[in-house]
Amino acid sequence: MFRGVDPMTGQALSEYETLSDDHAQSEIAVAHAAFAEWAGRPVAERAETAHRIADEFEARSEEFAALMAREMGKIPAEGRGEISTVASIFRYYADAAADLLADQPLDIVGGAATIRRRPTGVILGVMPWNYPVYQVARFVAPNLVLGNTMLLKHASNCPETALAIVEVLAAAGVPAGVYRNLFISAAQVESVIAHPAVQGVSLTGSERAGRAVAEAAGRHLTKVVLELGGSDPLIVLDSEDVAETAADIVASRLSNAGQACNAPKRIIVLDELYDEMLSAVVSATRAHRAGDPAAASTTVAPLVSRAAAEEVAAQVRRAVDEGAELHTGGELVDSVSSLMSPAVLSGVLPGTAAYEEEIFGPVVVVYRAHDVDAAVRLANDTTFGLGSSVFSADRERARAVASRIDAGMSYVNQAGGSQADLPFGGIKRSGIGRELGPLGIDEFANLMTVRH
Ligand code: NAP
Repeated sequence: MFRGVDPMTGQALSEYETLSDDHAQSEIAVAHAAFAEWAGRPVAERAETAHRIADEFEARSEEFAALMAREMGKIPAEGRGEISTVASIFRYYADAAADLLADQPLDIVGGAATIRRRPTGVILGVMPWNYPVYQVARFVAPNLVLGNTMLLKHASNCPETALAIVEVLAAAGVPAGVYRNLFISAAQVESVIAHPAVQGVSLTGSERAGRAVAEAAGRHLTKVVLELGGSDPLIVLDSEDVAETAADIVASRLSNAGQACNAPKRIIVLDELYDEMLSAVVSATRAHRAGDPAAASTTVAPLVSRAAAEEVAAQVRRAVDEGAELHTGGELVDSVSSLMSPAVLSGVLPGTAAYEEEIFGPVVVVYRAHDVDAAVRLANDTTFGLGSSVFSADRERARAVASRIDAGMSYVNQAGGSQADLPFGGIKRSGIGRELGPLGIDEFANLMTVRH
């Protein structure tokens, strides 16, 4: 069952039955039948379609912001920001398509060769609710211009957003078979991966779902891309304006109610700055307001569901039981909604759940490190490896430390982020492969060697 639920009231918004197995299989056949014609079009034509998609998303920005506010509680300003990023992703691949897909000559011993980028077929996307349009755009834009056709299994709690995406693509002139939205359950995903026409699967979501999809992909020898969880470290080496640095870090951590894979989830501060920074982080967090996404005073949205809010509040309580100090927040705001007051924890000890787990909600965790080596050790002491940040007034110093962190991405003086032309992805248990930028288009391409 696909079911939208208002996180402020717990009321059901819409419900859709899941497809039968037979129906799902017939959808794969539709996407497969569309492949040859779509792949055979000139790249410029597919790029033109991607431009129209960008225009269409921009024209419907308000509509999507309202939809995401209803279905997952996103603050409309954040929703408009998401749609603007979505448009930029389609524009990037539209503009870069000719270069990214051009034949690549190779000088080889005894002759010449070319690497040719060709589409491979039908690709399945399995996507989460937290950035329900942006995540889909990262998957669709490169595959669309490459010439693949796509099946999309969206999260079961954002059906209206999933259907609105279908409308945008249709309005932009994407042939119906090129993108099929499948209302299938997580349990049905393997039967789609098993179909011989399906040449790849890309999942963004939790480690648990990633393992399940990777296992299925392994059984059917299907290429897989995984964008999973993170517990990104952010190291503060020094700061010329502690209050401003703290405010920036806190705003990033609390954005989207803290439900971002690459939010700075562990703030690591050097000894000499620690007390001042912790106090500034607590003040900055107290200045935020959890509330109705529609209210102008709200800076922290509700979590996606009451269950999610209860789980994050329980993680905070567990951290305190295991020795951490709670400086502010961490409470459910009322008995109905999924609002939670933003929290700050410090003194989280190695070996405890809060140290090991991803906290997917509005919780800032601050750690103390004696020196730079200890900060790097702490940053790397995790099973995750998505993003990381290093802050310092001395950019060179920050860059040198950033390169010592085991992560797929590292940002200097910026708390994470994402942009169309910048590859995105993790190492360790944060995932396999890359999306966005020039690398994002190669994942489901046949990088064909032609010896001539
Ligand atoms: P989730 O439960 O893993 O859901 C994500 C998607 O996977 C949904 O479509 C879900 O379908 C599907 N799914 C769940 N279990 C599955 C299974 N066993 N087999 C096949 N598909 C399955 O993720 P979430 O908890 O909603 O999302 C939060 C997680 O995503 C966090 O860990 C976050 O860090 C991560 N994330 C990572 C990135 C990144 O780029 N690295 C970006 C955003 C989020 P149903 O809805 O039907 O269960």
